[in-house]
Amino acid sequence: MRESFPSEPPSTPRPAPPPPAPTPASAAAPAATLRVCVLGSGSSGNSTWVEFGGDAILVDAGLSAQRTRRTLRDCGLDERKLRAICVTHEHTDHTCGIARLHALLGIPAYANTGTAHAARNVPDGCWKCFSTGQPFSLGPFDILPFSLPHDAYDPVGYKIACGGACVGIATDLGMATTLVRGQLSGCNLLVIEANHDEELVRGATRPWRLKQRILGNQGHLSNSAAAALIADVAGDSLRTVVLAHLSRDCNREDLALETVRADLAARGLERIRVLAAHADSPTPVCSCGCI
Ligand SMILES: [Zn+2]
Ligand SMILES: [Zn+2]
Repeated sequence: MRESFPSEPPSTPRPAPPPPAPTPASAAAPAATLRVCVLGSGSSGNSTWVEFGGDAILVDAGLSAQRTRRTLRDCGLDERKLRAICVTHEHTDHTCGIARLHALLGIPAYANTGTAHAARNVPDGCWKCFSTGQPFSLGPFDILPFSLPHDAYDPVGYKIACGGACVGIATDLGMATTLVRGQLSGCNLLVIEANHDEELVRGATRPWRLKQRILGNQGHLSNSAAAALIADVAGDSLRTVVLAHLSRDCNREDLALETVRADLAARGLERIRVLAAHADSPTPVCSCGCI
């Protein structure tokens, strides 16, 4: 609920004061902006903070509740603004903090019924369910969950719009479908998986079945596939890209950044800032719409 200003106390009648001079835009209070911080990302845990003014949501809570709260404090982000956790899919690197955060902060988790059913580590009472493809509102946020190809029950990405800005979040997807490309177009900031370098996966000492899973259409997005997706959907409004869910063994931050920056440069889009999210530390807090 929003606070309203108290009404003027009664007073004796007096001449109306002259109308105030218009406030120059530069002297006005700064307008709220949509702000995003990837608190941590990788196979050990994923969680992204999205804030506008006095409200915030988490997309996934795959860090422990203790680590989530400590990271928010370290970043100067106020956990009292949290209204909900929007969950992409049931894998524990996206859900392991939900139950405790729900108990500590009293916030619900939003997911489709498939994910809510499949997430055995989350009590039923935590959930509020949406239908994939149907937009819904949470406080000031207009949220559209859309389907992703991944080996989970009913995985989604999110497009979150607020205050004239828009964020697209898609981690854990085996391929960039036409639907995914359409939903991620027109965003100001993208959080996109750049999971692995294909050569590093093929050369890794991992069981072949696991390699097939990572490389398959229901697995994870490679650096080159992420680069092609980002370059395809990048429009005039895109300012910042955060590469997420980097594999510890089958990727390197410099490889991921170089691959994506090269594809953007080839299309004359060097102006777009590209950052990498880390498993053990948060990204800077990024404001959408500002370079
Ligand atoms: Zn994951
Ligand atoms: Zn997953």
